[in-house]
Amino acid sequence: MTTPRLRFAPSPTGYLHVGGARTALFNWLYARRHGGQFLLRVEDTDKARSTDESTRAIFEGLEWLGLMWDEPVVYQGANVERHRADAERLLASGHAYRCFCTAADLDFRRKVAEANEGAFKYDRRCDQLDRDEVARRVAAGEPSVVRFRVPEGNTGWTDLVHDSISFPNKDIEDFVILRSDGTPIYNMAVTSDDIAMHITLVMRGDDHISNTPKQIMLYEALGAPMPQFAHLPMIHGSDGKKLSKRHGATAVADWQHEGILPQAMVNFLALLGWSPGGEFDEVMSIDELIAKFDAAGLRKTAAVFDTKKLEWMNGQHLVRMALDELAPLARRKIAAAGLATESDLEQRGAWFNTLLELLRVRARTVDDIVRQAKPFLVASVEYDEHAAAKAWKDAADARALLVAVRDTLAGVAWEATALETALKALAETRGIGAGKLFGPMRVALTGEANSPGMFDVLVVLGRDLTLARLAAAIVDLDRRTGVT
Ligand code: GLU
Repeated sequence: MTTPRLRFAPSPTGYLHVGGARTALFNWLYARRHGGQFLLRVEDTDKARSTDESTRAIFEGLEWLGLMWDEPVVYQGANVERHRADAERLLASGHAYRCFCTAADLDFRRKVAEANEGAFKYDRRCDQLDRDEVARRVAAGEPSVVRFRVPEGNTGWTDLVHDSISFPNKDIEDFVILRSDGTPIYNMAVTSDDIAMHITLVMRGDDHISNTPKQIMLYEALGAPMPQFAHLPMIHGSDGKKLSKRHGATAVADWQHEGILPQAMVNFLALLGWSPGGEFDEVMSIDELIAKFDAAGLRKTAAVFDTKKLEWMNGQHLVRMALDELAPLARRKIAAAGLATESDLEQRGAWFNTLLELLRVRARTVDDIVRQAKPFLVASVEYDEHAAAKAWKDAADARALLVAVRDTLAGVAWEATALETALKALAETRGIGAGKLFGPMRVALTGEANSPGMFDVLVVLGRDLTLARLAAAIVDLDRRTGVT
């Protein structure tokens, strides 16, 4: 048994979108699972649409996801000579022939055919030309393309996703493999490259199914070993329509900027068109995915890109990841938001880790953590007006309560149990439940209606900041009392 060799073959005509990333991931997982190789081929033969910027975006996206390729990148455009040589081999072996019909001729014949019987198929008239005539016309400099002569019969394969697929060859015309300027047509380039790269499994989107019979014919005519094929289902948005920009972020880099973790993105993409089967925990590490990934779990039906699920998945990975992996990420984002410097956060390492532990269970993205971390990092908070209107509805009451809280806390050792005992005792003397204290306190301390548990907030904020915030809230409530 040879080890599997797979490739991801993007055309560098845009950013790396989630569909491409899913294809790359499945190829990579299959190669890793079976001890094979994962290769990257940049299909840059369309010079007008290919850009270096897009090639860079593809590399960066794959690197971010951790989908590293095992051999130097192959650039399709660098292999045009081989593509041409392979096409000429087909010409020499009689599997292909020169066609002198001009684009204008063909266009005219297509229009006539469509007006009469419908579909147009090349009528093979140049296949009737004798050798001498062909040689004479070529020598005279008349432009010609090279067409592959489609044999009789059917062309089929056992697809790893769709099982048996077969096309009647009569529906496929003698397709062009070399243009008149000597450049190869897409199917010729892909087949020549896949042969040269010793690809054993071609796994790609099912929009390529119609290309596969042509490629299979080329393998056969070139006498090359046939790879297996797997055509992955399309990805749809939650409305059941093909995923597009209308659905929001479709570039992998957009999700990276939204604070999605690469391991969550990989986990989420892995389940778009694959499932390990049976009862399983959807949250999987990359190693678990490699251990479980297999062709048997590939799905035929379109996969749905559910943004909510991606965010949920990210939350799950946020909670599970090692703190010393999360901390540098969070430090970078907090510094970028201007809330603290990275070195300051590094110096307060133990404190910062406690804060992260507290916030990550309530967050879906690293950006959520940054938002929630703000009250713990800045000198003073602004009050969310909805939260204030609710929790401080009766300003005089709220003020009296916060004064009592401040006086109580000022005399307590700053430690969770002592703080809890003191606040419970205070609530009891005022004849209210302790919960009644927390709403007004939460707005005073964080500015928000939601926060981690009150005792955790107190411990992480620390004594000085807590007392300062209570004092500021009391001043603010004085103003509100004056107004109301
Ligand atoms: N370059 C093609 C694309 O981006 C992929 C070709 C293939 O995988 O065979 O759709």
